[in-house]
Amino acid sequence: MTKIAPQPGVMEIALYQGGAAHIDGVANVVKLSSNENPFGPSEAAKEAFRKAAYELHRYPSTDHAGLRNAIAEVHGLDAERIVCGVGSDEIIAFLCQAYAGPGDEVIHTEHGFAMYRISTLANGATPVEVPERDRVTDVDAILAACTDATRLVFLANPNNPTGTMIGEAELRRLAEGLPERALLVVDGAYADYVEGYDGGAALVEACENVVMTRTFSKLYGLGGLRVGWGYGPQHVVDVLNRVRGPFNLSHAALVTAEAAVRDRAWATRCREDNARLRGWLAEALAEHGVPSDTSTANFILARFGSPEEARACDEYLKSQGLIVRQVAGYKLPNCLRITVGDEPSCRRVAHAVGQFKGGAR
Ligand SMILES: *Cc1c(COP(=O)(O)O)cnc(C)c1O
Repeated sequence: MTKIAPQPGVMEIALYQGGAAHIDGVANVVKLSSNENPFGPSEAAKEAFRKAAYELHRYPSTDHAGLRNAIAEVHGLDAERIVCGVGSDEIIAFLCQAYAGPGDEVIHTEHGFAMYRISTLANGATPVEVPERDRVTDVDAILAACTDATRLVFLANPNNPTGTMIGEAELRRLAEGLPERALLVVDGAYADYVEGYDGGAALVEACENVVMTRTFSKLYGLGGLRVGWGYGPQHVVDVLNRVRGPFNLSHAALVTAEAAVRDRAWATRCREDNARLRGWLAEALAEHGVPSDTSTANFILARFGSPEEARACDEYLKSQGLIVRQVAGYKLPNCLRITVGDEPSCRRVAHAVGQFKGGAR
């Protein structure tokens, strides 16, 4: 028996299940399981990535000034209070590493993103799950769950995998009601899909205890590159920059993300396309007897009559070359999360769900 053992908590981590990408024996597969942008990144971003090939022998920038300044200009933020990470996953990890350890509690919501729990356990802290109200964040339940040991409260808004969100007044009520030592993390991975929503930026400006995280993995179509960022009060950003590795982001990642965020026309087009197709898909599924909550993100949480029916529909979709996401691991066993793809993919998935519900199997 080996005496070599990891820190407490580590072996409680359930390995992250990514969205499947292949089906054995099926060609022409459409992947709608990871909330990726079906159109990929902007041409300007791809061009920046190609040019970065000539700089591969150079160490990258350690202060990320170019990318931080671009983000600050586009979003109207203070560049000094932006911190960049290898995906927003890394910002989540930094927050847990810096603020939560053994004996500390970290709150996440019932159907919240898996990385909150994983990063909490990786640092020996205790995850605390709070119920949602019919798949919507319940601010009162979160406030009621807070204790003297609460250090972090993670909330995705819009939420994944539910697609629902709460309003700015509710977010503010949450921030203002937290215990003194707790930090609210508003995960804005899908904020770019919500017209007129700042992802929590104004709340960060107004409060000393709020951090916002954002990503290039969704609207910007750069999930494969791994770039995310956080925005918070100076005292928090100073802490995160201490745990951040100096070369955490490659030059290719930095310049590609910078080009992506500056291409506003592409971002707007992707947001508008998503909104149009999301509405179409939700309606088409509803006509086939598959309801969903109004989604504010780039996916729909399709609800079935039972876990068995959800699994059977998933199997049928697979047989048709369509990969969607089972979300039983998120305590939603009767649901399937379906990413809004391009128009042909949306039509294919709606048609297949219709065939499944019509019994044409
Ligand atoms: C996809 C997603 C992220 C983004 O993770 P990255 O590490 O930036 O790719 C963050 N939070 C939520 C809720 C997500 O769904």
